[in-house]
Amino acid sequence: MKLILLGPPGAGKGTQSVELCKRYGVPHISTGDILRQSVKAGLPLGLKAKSYMDKGELVPDEVVIGIVAERLKDKDTEKGFILDGFPRTVKQAIGLDEALKGIRSGIDMVIYFQTSPKVAIERLTGRRVCKNCGFNYHIKNMPPKKEGICDKCGGALYQRPDDNEATVLNRLKVYEDQTKPLVDYYSGKGILKKVSGDLGVNDLFKVLSGLFAEAKLA
Ligand code: ADP
Ligand code: ZN
Repeated sequence: MKLILLGPPGAGKGTQSVELCKRYGVPHISTGDILRQSVKAGLPLGLKAKSYMDKGELVPDEVVIGIVAERLKDKDTEKGFILDGFPRTVKQAIGLDEALKGIRSGIDMVIYFQTSPKVAIERLTGRRVCKNCGFNYHIKNMPPKKEGICDKCGGALYQRPDDNEATVLNRLKVYEDQTKPLVDYYSGKGILKKVSGDLGVNDLFKVLSGLFAEAKLA
């Protein structure tokens, strides 16, 4: 199962990835997570990426293509993988095709999470993330039992610096301008499947499982 999850920020790609990886046993590759870890660790990559991320702009293509190309060389990707938040530009998609050429067969399916801006904005501005285990909450839709504290591990919850309203609006604009063209790119290859990102977590998970069963990916 070699998948790409495509859709605007706030579509629920990260949430579904976690569930899908658990169910299907393939690694979750999120360029956003990898970049945030590099920022946290104070790595040169993180220093370079942070200014883009804080503004809601894209990190340069060469940088993220390099990250993913390296990650795909790891043995755990042999049985498949879920790419979340990559590719985000046509140039990245071409870079991915090239990276896969030598080592793996191509992508099986690209799932396009069609999501209304209103839902995305609401989800992102209300999101809280556990500092310790990374689990996501929402102040209204999925609040923790104790305010500011993770149910799973007791860690402190925080708001991502790019989840304020102004930056969220810019991320959505960047998505429309630079990432949306990938819908045509992959639909031209005949591997795009559209789902509604507005659905709740469990309903969307069922839709996705159905798609994989139908395509005999699982
Ligand atoms: P979201 O999808 O909610 O915006 P991500 O965690 O995927 O969140 O990305 C956060 C930020 O990391 C992006 O706004 C961007 O700056 C950077 N980033 C992540 N993935 C990419 C990518 N494939 N290309 C360029 N920048 C990226
Ligand atoms: Zn936690």
